[in-house]
Amino acid sequence: MTEIIDGKGLAKKIRENLKKDVDELKEKGIFPKFAVILVGDDPASKIYIRNKNRACNEIGIEYEEHLLSSDTTMEELLDLIDTLNKDKTINGILLQSPLPDHLDINEALKKIDYKKDVDGFNPINVGKLSLGQDCFVSCTPYGIIKMLEEYKIPTEGKKAVIIGRSNIVGKPLIQCLLSKNATVTICHSKTKDIEKITKDADIIVAALGKSNFLKADMVKEGATVIDVGINRLENGKITGDVDFEEVSKKTSYITPVPGGVGPMTIAMLMNNIVKAAIDQNK
Ligand code: NAP
Repeated sequence: MTEIIDGKGLAKKIRENLKKDVDELKEKGIFPKFAVILVGDDPASKIYIRNKNRACNEIGIEYEEHLLSSDTTMEELLDLIDTLNKDKTINGILLQSPLPDHLDINEALKKIDYKKDVDGFNPINVGKLSLGQDCFVSCTPYGIIKMLEEYKIPTEGKKAVIIGRSNIVGKPLIQCLLSKNATVTICHSKTKDIEKITKDADIIVAALGKSNFLKADMVKEGATVIDVGINRLENGKITGDVDFEEVSKKTSYITPVPGGVGPMTIAMLMNNIVKAAIDQNK
């Protein structure tokens, strides 16, 4: 029997605990504050930042939004980041991606003070993660690790396969799983015979953005499957990267979409903002 990992429920529990932490910080005169920058009017990005705003309100984190027009110059964007870096009342900064094509996301992420980089995308945090040092871990991989821990799913000595090598999910997740003593393989669009690799895995993380990509015949009996994908179908329905109905007949543990990785990503962002507020007031 497969157990469905309740990311939504776990995320709620994490947010409730964070609310208590924030209440305690406020008693000490510390008021965690988060700033979001959105350039342009990508509809999906607007939904993402609305959800972050909601989570902040629920936990008691102050939220500030900077909505810039799509013709914003790189200089204007870097100036805003500089201002937010210097603002002592702001603990966390997030630059919502994607940016319009004329803007360089890497330059912008590099500009965010790594101590306020609650998304964990600044090269300093990326480097610290790979060195196993204290840092901001990017929120989706962090949420995946929390789910594995909560459900006591063993990682040590296990074969973990990640499909997708993006900077925000696949690559940081390699370090997270390595630090949990898994043997990690990463697949991408040029990987040959993916099904042979996944079929041997104890843990599979599908993070490629292709609806129903992972089929039951690619998964071994008793594996754990984590579905990161968020794919919007033409009929408006959201699906993951995993054929949930068939794959769940073989797994020990599986995450649903929606209600799995998505809510955990936001919960870990909130966790990082609270960590930033604590660290900056030490
Ligand atoms: P991305 O930047 O587009 O990267 C996709 C990765 O998948 C790339 O490494 C690509 O390989 C690989 N890939 C594409 N097609 C493949 C195939 N047929 N076989 C094997 N690998 C393939 O995507 P992302 O930003 O990481 O997001 C991935 C998915 O996760 C999306 O659906 C996104 O919406 C979702 N997501 C969800 C959350 C959440 O909180 N739930 C957070 C972030 C992302 P190459 O490198 O060779 O091109």
